[in-house]
Amino acid sequence: MPNQVVQCTACNHYCRISPDKTGTCGVRLNKNGVLYLAVHSRPSAVHVDPIEKKPLYHFYPNSQIFSIGTIGCNFKCDFCQNWSLSMERPGDIEDRCQQEDELTPQQVIDFCLRKKIPSIAFTYNEPTIWIEYNLDICKLAHQNNIKTVYKTNGFMSPEVRSELVKYISAINIDLKCFNEASYIKMGGRLKEICDNIKFFFDNNITTEVTTLIIPGLNDSPEELTQIAQFLSSISTQIPWHLSAFHPDYKMKNVSRTSLTTLERAREIGKQFKLQNIYLGNVSSQFTSTICDCGQELVNRSGYHGMVTGIRSGKCVSCGKGVYGQFD
Ligand code: SF4
Repeated sequence: MPNQVVQCTACNHYCRISPDKTGTCGVRLNKNGVLYLAVHSRPSAVHVDPIEKKPLYHFYPNSQIFSIGTIGCNFKCDFCQNWSLSMERPGDIEDRCQQEDELTPQQVIDFCLRKKIPSIAFTYNEPTIWIEYNLDICKLAHQNNIKTVYKTNGFMSPEVRSELVKYISAINIDLKCFNEASYIKMGGRLKEICDNIKFFFDNNITTEVTTLIIPGLNDSPEELTQIAQFLSSISTQIPWHLSAFHPDYKMKNVSRTSLTTLERAREIGKQFKLQNIYLGNVSSQFTSTICDCGQELVNRSGYHGMVTGIRSGKCVSCGKGVYGQFD
């Protein structure tokens, strides 16, 4: 753009960035009229996790997943449960990134091949803001028969989603509330996120949705009804994770979500015939996957899942197809 301003197209903010400045996410910077990604090959969090921890419940249960994240975020949620990574706004972003060990896309793939890890998750902070890094990993993973998945706030631009859909196999999208004013306060917009949930589902990416239930913010029956109604309008098969909030970051004065609140939310989801509703961050009986016919399909306890009733993607008892991807 004029005067060496660059426009970023990674997420729906479409930031116009002046020279020597970064976009809202803090990691994409304009150097002499060229857009750079400061965190490419400089992750700040790397772990091997059970896939249930993402959470992804309909994608190869009980498998290990290489999980990687950087710093920065395009949202600013007061309740962020990963704020030490997402809210980092270093003075000199390049200096800060140089302090992290380098991890190139090829090194990620080599590690997964050596350790026989079948999939990679882009997670911990918003992966859309470091799309070039994770897309480079995706392309190499694709060539090496390793699957890739996104854990995201769902605010990626149409340009990014049409690239991602060529490579990723599964996605878990946060639907944090169903209220435009609340989303604007967090730094997003409801419509684009809803459009993206539908887009990935319709494009045959295994799509799961997570709502962190926060007392006083999104736990009213009306709002939960709107979320359940929306998900059900896409498909009654789409998995919905109802996750308990714990006091954190700027919301330390709000109490932890009770099991009763989560169970009430689950009942609302059931009224809209949502088949796969799971409670998270609490000890609960509602973590296993059960078929319409009553057959247990996947038994879960903590972060461990065991397929008990699926054969060739179908219920062993009634033969109905099970949403997702299984061995
Ligand atoms: S990723 Fe989003 S927030 Fe970050 S610079 Fe690009 S448009 Fe702005």
